[in-house]
Amino acid sequence: MTGTDILYLVIPCYNEEAVLPETAKRLLEKMNSMLERKMISEKSRILFVNDGSKDRTWEIIEELHGENPIYSGVKLSRNKGHQNALLAGLMTAKERSDMTISLDADLQDDIDVIDEMVEKYYAGNDVVYGVRSARKTDTFFKKFTAQGFYKMMQMMGVDVVYNHADYRLMSRRALEGLEEFKEVNLFLRGIVPLIGYSSDVVTYERHERFAGESKYPLKKMLALAMDGITSFSIKPIRFITTCGFLIFAVSLLMLVYFLVVHFTGRTVHGWTSTIVSIWAIGGLQLLAIGIVGEYIGKIYMETKERPKYIIEKTLDTREETAGDSL
Ligand code: UDP
Ligand code: MG
Repeated sequence: MTGTDILYLVIPCYNEEAVLPETAKRLLEKMNSMLERKMISEKSRILFVNDGSKDRTWEIIEELHGENPIYSGVKLSRNKGHQNALLAGLMTAKERSDMTISLDADLQDDIDVIDEMVEKYYAGNDVVYGVRSARKTDTFFKKFTAQGFYKMMQMMGVDVVYNHADYRLMSRRALEGLEEFKEVNLFLRGIVPLIGYSSDVVTYERHERFAGESKYPLKKMLALAMDGITSFSIKPIRFITTCGFLIFAVSLLMLVYFLVVHFTGRTVHGWTSTIVSIWAIGGLQLLAIGIVGEYIGKIYMETKERPKYIIEKTLDTREETAGDSL
């Protein structure tokens, strides 16, 4: 363990005046205990990101900063949502730190595993995911919707770490990798695994919010799930194409049947042509929409300008050739 690396705790806060003083106190104790054990550098900080709160959150952050410079803060111009607030904090911390840990202001994520995360960082991991071992304190509804969410993401082909929210440690170079992802629709949980590098997991039990209310009502949760799917996957578009193709194929089979019915005279005049057009045109239309969608999907993926690769290591061959020529 080197002990000289700088740790930044990044905490997005939206209307968190009820929890902030207590959170700040507990995090300070944690930082002090790590400083005493020489696990982290003196330059380490607790960075609060005020996500356009309408209450006294920012004033509290300013007061904290005045009391002790270990508290620092970033103020966003307006409410931009949890994911964007988190990114703003991480990008600010990137310039100043060797590692960052992101966590929620309500300390539902057990801060006692921070030590373990830092140890795993020193052991050579660039990303350490905090994974919930139990959801005892969550309501049935929250548990059910959250689990459904992870299942659906997997079905849609998005690579997410099961039961991992946004409690994670990231090294500086992992953040540099993250910065290369230019997309506007941000879903960090899906992007971080795409950065690569070696990663590890720590498990913890999620606590109850000790004060204040959840800032993630059902509406925001659904929006996050929708963002997660639509910003990673064009499977929904593919689904339309498949439907169109199937319906068109069925319409061809039906055509045979309709013609048989028609020629055996067991039908009224005009029925065959009507029903065939309904099926065939319907199928063709869906298929066409799907094909157009396929191109839109391509454009969509292109406009993200995601990095095609992130280099983990470079072995400089120029030095070798220089040596050879001597
Ligand atoms: N949050 C934020 N902006 C928002 C909503 C939430 O920065 O628009 C922060 C919030 O202050 C907290 C974290 O995101 O630190 C998680 O929110 P919350 O605890 O309400 O979500 P839950 O734990 O209920 O899923
Ligand atoms: Mg919470």
